[in-house]
Amino acid sequence: MEFKDYYKILGVPRDADEKTIKSAYRKLARKYHPDVNKGDASAEERFKEINEAYQVLSDPEKRAKYDRFGADWERYQQAETAGTGTGSGWTDFSDWFTGGRWSGGTRQSSESPFSDFFETLFGDTIGRARSRVRQQPQRGQDYEYPITISLRDAYHGTTRRFEVQIQERCPTCGGTGLNGQGFCPTCGGSGTLSRTKTLEVKIPAGVRDGSRIRVAGQGGPGVNGGPNGDIYLLVSLAPHPRFQVDGLNLRTEVEVPLYTAILGGEVMVPTLDNPVVLTIPPETQNGRVFRLRGKGMPALKGGGKGDLLARVKVVLPTGLSDEERALFERLRDARKARVHA
Ligand SMILES: [Zn+2]
Repeated sequence: MEFKDYYKILGVPRDADEKTIKSAYRKLARKYHPDVNKGDASAEERFKEINEAYQVLSDPEKRAKYDRFGADWERYQQAETAGTGTGSGWTDFSDWFTGGRWSGGTRQSSESPFSDFFETLFGDTIGRARSRVRQQPQRGQDYEYPITISLRDAYHGTTRRFEVQIQERCPTCGGTGLNGQGFCPTCGGSGTLSRTKTLEVKIPAGVRDGSRIRVAGQGGPGVNGGPNGDIYLLVSLAPHPRFQVDGLNLRTEVEVPLYTAILGGEVMVPTLDNPVVLTIPPETQNGRVFRLRGKGMPALKGGGKGDLLARVKVVLPTGLSDEERALFERLRDARKARVHA
């Protein structure tokens, strides 16, 4: 059996980092891809070899195993060349292959996309990958995305389009991660590909800070016919300049002119819907809170709405005329006379 120098096959040094290995692999895989070398058996063989080398060197666990194995292989061959062979005190090399240190490394059939060398070394790994494909259906992964929406949108409900990164079943290998050449070159054996997808999601009226909206079936792809996972949107409400959320209620401040506060009257109060008229009774104090029933936030699952709590802020007149000042002085004197009476 021929020892395969995977570093030489990819043309990288033995201490090459992940990035170097990946870029060398990509370059070679493009060059020797069967699609661009139709009918060229040597290119196909080369492509197989490149994939195999990448499979080993891109996986830290496999690479470490291969490096250890390679060192022993060389020692073994040196010993053999020197005529001492397996009697030299080295472990009999057949141990590597039969229940020895690489236990489970059973030989695969000849239609395997991998070399005998690879199968011997990593046969158990491939076996596991193959059996995983035959395993039971598995539900795809759930994903959570934060979104921020305005209070007005939370009040009325809205539709949002946004982009998410989703994992999709690899179309080349159908999610198995394997193809006739070895590990699927499109997805590198993972069986999934990452893609940006635009989702249109209905945000129901009444969502609040911390609401989770489920978008069924848009999460990670199911495995072996299992259902897809879901996407959960984690809602944050953007602060509103006029309204504060307090459970189902909204709080706001309403400016009331001094004269209306003293004599009574009406003021307009903005809501998240149309403005409403609020009747101010005479002698209304600054800071008094009026409850406008049903003008708060809608409950998420029906069941009516909260209230709008409007706190009075009395606005004093400024830029008084001489006449106004004189009148206020008269008012003050009248009040003094009553208090001291
Ligand atoms: Zn694939």
